[in-house]
Amino acid sequence: MAKLSCRDYGFECDFVADDEDIQILLTKFAKHTLEEHGIEYTKEILMQFIMRQKNPWIESNSFP
Ligand SMILES: [Zn+2]
Repeated sequence: MAKLSCRDYGFECDFVADDEDIQILLTKFAKHTLEEHGIEYTKEILMQFIMRQKNPWIESNSFP
């Protein structure tokens, strides 16, 4: 199961989004960051966050 936590991305916030369905997870987290922090993340960006968590050995090559 994938998970995104506000704290991991520099927010002083205990919100954690997790879900079996990655699309739902992204939607939950994006909605939270927009409503609570006024920051809009696209699903593409959030997907990259998750990919980095799951593949820590993939270095910045894929991320300009
Ligand atoms: Zn938050």
